Amino acid sequence: MNRDGYIKEAEQDLLHTYNRYGVVFEKGKDVYLFDTEGKKYLDFAAGIAVCALGYDNEEYSEALKSQVDDLIHTSNLFYNVPIIKAAERVKKISGMDRVFFTNSGTEAIEGAIKAAKKYAYTRDGHAGHEIIAMNHSFHGRSIGALSVTGNRHYQEPFEPLLPGVCFADFNDLSSVKTLVTEKTCAILLETVQGEGGIYPASPEFLEGVAKLCREKDILLILDEIQCGMGRTGKMFAWQHYDIKPDIMTVAKALGCGVPVGAFLMTERVAEKSLCPGDHGTTYGGNPLVGAAVDKVLEIMERDKLADHAKEMGDYLWKRLEELRDRYDFVIAHRGLGLMQGLQITLPVGEVSAKALSKGLVLITAGSDVLRFVPPLIIEKEDVDTMTEILTEVFEEMK
Ligand SMILES: *Cc1c(COP(=O)(O)O)cnc(C)c1O
Repeated sequence: MNRDGYIKEAEQDLLHTYNRYGVVFEKGKDVYLFDTEGKKYLDFAAGIAVCALGYDNEEYSEALKSQVDDLIHTSNLFYNVPIIKAAERVKKISGMDRVFFTNSGTEAIEGAIKAAKKYAYTRDGHAGHEIIAMNHSFHGRSIGALSVTGNRHYQEPFEPLLPGVCFADFNDLSSVKTLVTEKTCAILLETVQGEGGIYPASPEFLEGVAKLCREKDILLILDEIQCGMGRTGKMFAWQHYDIKPDIMTVAKALGCGVPVGAFLMTERVAEKSLCPGDHGTTYGGNPLVGAAVDKVLEIMERDKLADHAKEMGDYLWKRLEELRDRYDFVIAHRGLGLMQGLQITLPVGEVSAKALSKGLVLITAGSDVLRFVPPLIIEKEDVDTMTEILTEVFEEMK
């Protein structure tokens, strides 16, 4: 079957929850994707910040293949070796003490919310606690995660959502302070807002929130699902700041394509938080994802991918600044490391579609931001090629 045949069938069978680009990807190699028509694409999306190692990394593929042959699943009623190794690595790079593996980002958020509520319940001897989240945030699509996602459009059809959630403005400390009550158990935010349009937390804001949390025994939950795993030039984006979260969520690049997420916490939180009977998952942290996470972390540490992301991020910054200087319709440029955004007044959807037709995969964020989240293994030549193609698109559309 060819592309059009596949697309026609997909549109008959799959629930129509996405307006997809008209491309069917079939293979990947390094930072390139290939579609069913054999066309080659430079990938600056990494499957939404997932494929940090690019495609067809031999070591990673071999680790998965060998785990498939050994053992894929056992359930969490038993121990398994790959996840024990993975847990040790993720603790080491994060400085957190306890980890629970999930199957997705949204489940990591669910777990983080439950962990915070349980902590406050144990401490206070009663339930009924509240969470402060941020406007323009994104934390996932399940009802709990949607309840803390500050986007009315995503929430409205599904109301009533979780009660006891209120929203402050990102990077506005006083808007957080006015929402704090004696019921507040957690403040949740993305260290760098992703879907909302690539907004890094300002140091004053994040450090101010962390201080507020310490003073009032409120838990600071950082969502590092998109910005974590080396992308911003540190293993986790919060490591750029003088703070440490009480609870952290990870997913996306954690398994580099194998569905896995995690929520982590400090021992201080864990002592008062989830215990047997409070939480569980059938698949979460099975041997297959354990092997993936273990290998991903081994490669990232050994090859210093966070440092590489910093270096490439600096270069990407420089090239995108040139575009901002040259074109009036580029109105802002934000980001950290290999997580950057260009806010433009051209229709972003059209820019991204045109880029795709020219062999560049470039996605959007919010309603007017081009999002640059390439595999962490990109090199300067790739940044140059991307810039050339994007310049061509801009020239055609200006
Ligand atoms: C993608 C994302 C999620 C949700 O993860 P899923 O795996 O899609 O459930 C949550 N938070 C952030 C910051 C994300 O980027």
